[in-house]
Amino acid sequence: MIDERGRGAGRTNEIYGGDMAHGLNHCCGVFGIIGHSEAARLAYLGLYALQHRGQESCGIATTNLGAMFVERGMGEVADVFDGDRLDRLPGRAAIGHVRYSTAGASNLANSQPVRIESRRGSIALGHNGNLVNAGQLRVHLEQQGSIFTSSSDTEVLLHLLARSECEGILDALIDAVGQARGAFTMTLLTNESLMGVRDPLGFRPLSIGHVDGAIVLASETCAFDLIGAQFIRDVQPGEVIEIGDQAVGSEAALKAIAAGPGAAAPGFRSMQPWRRQPERRCIFEHVYFARPDSQLFGAGVMDGRKRMGTILAQEAPTDADMVVPVPDGGTFAALGYAAEAGLPFEPALIRNHYVGRTFIEPRQAIRHFGVKVKLNPVASVTKGKRVVLVDDSIVRGTTSAKIVEMMRNAGAREVHVRVSSPPYVSPCYYGIDTPYRDDLVAANYSADEICEQIGADSLAYLSHAGLQRSLPDGDVSYCGACFTGEYPTPLGSELESRMELFEPVGSGPAKAHRGH
Ligand code: SF4
Repeated sequence: MIDERGRGAGRTNEIYGGDMAHGLNHCCGVFGIIGHSEAARLAYLGLYALQHRGQESCGIATTNLGAMFVERGMGEVADVFDGDRLDRLPGRAAIGHVRYSTAGASNLANSQPVRIESRRGSIALGHNGNLVNAGQLRVHLEQQGSIFTSSSDTEVLLHLLARSECEGILDALIDAVGQARGAFTMTLLTNESLMGVRDPLGFRPLSIGHVDGAIVLASETCAFDLIGAQFIRDVQPGEVIEIGDQAVGSEAALKAIAAGPGAAAPGFRSMQPWRRQPERRCIFEHVYFARPDSQLFGAGVMDGRKRMGTILAQEAPTDADMVVPVPDGGTFAALGYAAEAGLPFEPALIRNHYVGRTFIEPRQAIRHFGVKVKLNPVASVTKGKRVVLVDDSIVRGTTSAKIVEMMRNAGAREVHVRVSSPPYVSPCYYGIDTPYRDDLVAANYSADEICEQIGADSLAYLSHAGLQRSLPDGDVSYCGACFTGEYPTPLGSELESRMELFEPVGSGPAKAHRGH
């Protein structure tokens, strides 16, 4: 999807670049490794592969089993880290984090991993997701004397962890996380071990693999591919794992990891301490956020997107001459649509891959300049043709209108827009940066009205049932609240109180918009 920025729209001159082009932005990606002499460099590469999950800040923490080291910075991985900086991260274990802020301001204080010193020693934490009860927890902690240094809900988790009366770090983690509600996939590093956690509903992904005897955790398997790691399995919803040095290079540990939750071996423990609940994986990860070369929640992302396009073609066929994707989000759904409809697939919208995050606009306004910097139609292909334009979603609708107009200016005789997900009608509170409901075009207008607004000849969305059918277990295991408004956790006043707490007036460069 190419659409206008959501909560970050207050920043001027921000270009439609990379996945930042999206009207929705992911919050974070996490990585962890233990037992490798180049832990920091592999974390760096892992974050490189996960860059699409967050571009505002990034960081790496390492331990040499005696001391902990952290380097963080604002910007993308390639900008923040160079050889010298990685050399300041010694040790055989590391966690890494890429962030796009969905709760808390975009500043260095909120970047991750966050490190604390506690009676249990140094602990570093990287978090993907949003806690829906972070506001309440923070009020409670402050009343008991806790002092916060950031506006991130991740710090709430660290306070709970540090204050837990449980003895061992794993029990303290279970105690802390058990008080949180919402979406949280985390990697933690202590001077003794690497830990990974997924919330009981399993909103956000976390996979476990191995490379050269080292054990690796990552939000998506594309990070494993880059470092040559082998995928073992997904960390399960509600599962907490702890990996110590004894597990490194151990066949018994690999067997225990592969065996699933509850298994143990020297240096490895796994448990599912909370009441089992129906899974609620984020279906939008499959629609847009995850990289197409990842295996996510047990399914190939690219395959799922093609099936979305196939089912979309069955549900919403049209007479046309060609199928054109809106890159990159619509590409694989367009392939599926074209194959099912028996139409040629023509990548006739060319994306400029070298667009930076800022640009200097011409003094004289050029119509739709922002979109044109990013995308350009190939008129020789589209001239006189009836085009099916496939995109993964429409959030605000404004950029869709510009793209339709660009296609018409490039000579397209008809433009039929097909969207490979249902109308996006409700904000996400589980780690996706979404505009206000008032700004979600599908929350306020019918498909016919949106079709008219964007100037298309026809507009059709994939049905929710169709989206569910495109994925294994799609009908039972996924959250689809942004399409249905049916949230799998209680919301309400907690979110209101939380935003007051986390975005106080005058708190610096906080987000201009509310939402998560
Ligand atoms: S509301 Fe939508 S984006 Fe948020 S977790 Fe659920 S499916 Fe994903």
